[in-house]
Amino acid sequence: MSIIIPPFAPSPILDYNVNKCTLFLISVTQNKMHECSITESMLSLALEKANEASAGKITRINLVVGELSGIVSECVQFYFDAISKGTIASGAELAFETKPTQVRCRKCDNVFTPSDQNWDCPECHEAGIEIVSGRECYMESIEVE
Ligand SMILES: [Zn+2]
Repeated sequence: MSIIIPPFAPSPILDYNVNKCTLFLISVTQNKMHECSITESMLSLALEKANEASAGKITRINLVVGELSGIVSECVQFYFDAISKGTIASGAELAFETKPTQVRCRKCDNVFTPSDQNWDCPECHEAGIEIVSGRECYMESIEVE
């Protein structure tokens, strides 16, 4: 019987509109964090939350990853398997939910999903946009026994 530990308290470190907890913010314009450090942060938070819940085993970790985050899920899973050995998270499955890119037009406030080539606003054809979502990477919940 597994229990789901629900979304954690929201973190205030965001500069854009995400209303769930963000563990780590990865921007393609910042120095890119390696999957290793992301995975280490994720494992330590998952262990902390499981410990608070007096769980014996972590079976699944649900993650939300933005399309623009540059995170390669296979790398995270591979590294996770290695560093979680000997912990209660060993053998846990990582579930990645991909968050699509959304941007807002600075001129008319239209929110849209840009195509690969074209980031201009489809309404007013303005080129000035800000990213609403797509850069995030956070742990949504963990499942424990
Ligand atoms: Zn517009």
